[in-house]
Amino acid sequence: MTVSVDASYDCDLFVIGAGSGGVRASRVASQLGARVILAEGSALGGTCVNLGCIPKKLYSYAAHYHEAFAQARGFGWTLAEPEFDWDVLKARRGAEIARLNGVYAELLRGANVQLVRGWAKLLDAHTVAVKTTTHEQRFTARHILLATGGEPLRIEGPGAQWAMSSDDMFDLSPFPKRLVVVGGGYIACEFASIFHGLGSKVTLLHRGPQLLRGFDGEMARFVTAEMRKKGIDIRLESRIAAVERRGEVQRLQLADDSVLEADTVLHATGRRARSRGLGLAEVGVKVNEDGTVPVDAGFTTNVPSVHALGDLVGNKALTPVALAEAMVLIGRLFGEGRRPALDYATVPTAIFTHPQVATVGLSEEVARTRHGVLRIYRSEFKPLQHTLSGSTERTLLKLVVDDASDRLLGAHMVGGDAGEVLQGFAVAVQAGLTKAQLDRTIGIHPTVAEEFVTMRVAASRG
Ligand code: FAD
Ligand code: NDP
Repeated sequence: MTVSVDASYDCDLFVIGAGSGGVRASRVASQLGARVILAEGSALGGTCVNLGCIPKKLYSYAAHYHEAFAQARGFGWTLAEPEFDWDVLKARRGAEIARLNGVYAELLRGANVQLVRGWAKLLDAHTVAVKTTTHEQRFTARHILLATGGEPLRIEGPGAQWAMSSDDMFDLSPFPKRLVVVGGGYIACEFASIFHGLGSKVTLLHRGPQLLRGFDGEMARFVTAEMRKKGIDIRLESRIAAVERRGEVQRLQLADDSVLEADTVLHATGRRARSRGLGLAEVGVKVNEDGTVPVDAGFTTNVPSVHALGDLVGNKALTPVALAEAMVLIGRLFGEGRRPALDYATVPTAIFTHPQVATVGLSEEVARTRHGVLRIYRSEFKPLQHTLSGSTERTLLKLVVDDASDRLLGAHMVGGDAGEVLQGFAVAVQAGLTKAQLDRTIGIHPTVAEEFVTMRVAASRG
């Protein structure tokens, strides 16, 4: 298929933001024959590559070695006391991310995407200005894609002026011996686990009665208990009343009058769509109160030539979602027409806590509001590895099944490599498979994941 080129514009597609969604959209559009210009004001790859998924997961691997060394003794290994060097980890992460930035540059060059370095804003529905340190360049485009992602939401409150965001944590110096994390979502739980594993004394303060609001409650409570067993001090329904700073040490007084000392306080209290400074109001692009940009099912804003996706639109702030949204939009603009609308209800996700939480489909709570009788299958056990490792870590697997249709509505896991295990079961939930089909599936023995196909007796029906 040949894309119709309108030579009255400088390009067919101007993309603002070279993160997960913007890079995918640029490359695919260009491969379909569109003339694409991509503007990026910071490092290539966006949040995921530079300040999110990738460095976070590398640090999570680093943190796992701590307990791996301890557990190795149970298998007969004798080790000298291991020592951790934070500066080495930071430098090695930095080098790997720089390599990835280079890979992105190469991919864009290979796909014939013109890259412009600088911060972009809309001047009208078909014109973008890009500001570099020295000058401003203007470009006209048939279509403009906003893929500017999100940024940490800065909250008000005691000590907020000294608090770090997740962006600041990757290159923190010095290493925080005592870390207080505020929040109970993805970032709070992951960073609490990571820094605990790397050697910090971690206290997590969450305002609500349960971590990971919106996830299956039983799984959230289970991972909270597992994180506590490992030594993270998790305080629920907890608020900071006052913070005093003495030199580098912050003294936190909590609403229950207890006092904590911290070298670093991390506010992991959500993220905000990055719609400010893009000239959207001037051009008439609607913006919601929370900063997200409303779009239709094909990712077009209320201005027909302006499109938006990824964290900026805020459907689910996950990299694979931004990638999938880019495929839908570009297929519609330059490809062979409409793809089926994305099914956000079956997007799988993992929280890289220690142990991990992974989930796909409906929690038991949500399933109860939408379906009739449910069958719940659950299996909680000590994994084989921990019979010798000395670890008391336990694993919980759970299936939510619609009794009438036998359809699998949700699959949930807390345990080692839960993200890896659930990716496969996400296929089952997305395909609408039945429990009978899982029962016909043969397990792989001995694995933790085989439990998902061997749970025969429902723990509850009702
Ligand atoms: P981004 O990747 O944020 O890219 C936006 C880009 O636009 C940035 O490069 C920015 O510099 C650029 N930009 C912004 N404004 C302008 C402008 N005016 N001009 C030019 N350029 C501009 N997701 C997962 O799926 N798995 C994970 O494990 C995971 N871990 C995460 C961990 C952390 C700590 C965080 C913060 C996020 C994590 N995420 C994870 C979420 C994931 O990173 C985002 O959902 C994803 O990056 C969104 O992609 P995007 O294209 O919408 O935006
Ligand atoms: P989340 O929305 O997951 O969690 C925010 C947390 O902060 C909630 O527990 C919320 O409490 C709490 N909170 C909000 N405002 C305040 C406040 N004023 N005072 C105290 N607590 C507050 O956001 P994150 O920042 O953790 O992550 C943002 C998004 O990034 C995630 O939703 C996810 O989509 C993505 N992400 C994905 C990862 C992955 O795939 N593994 C990893 C990291 C991020 P309450 O529940 O009461 O509202």
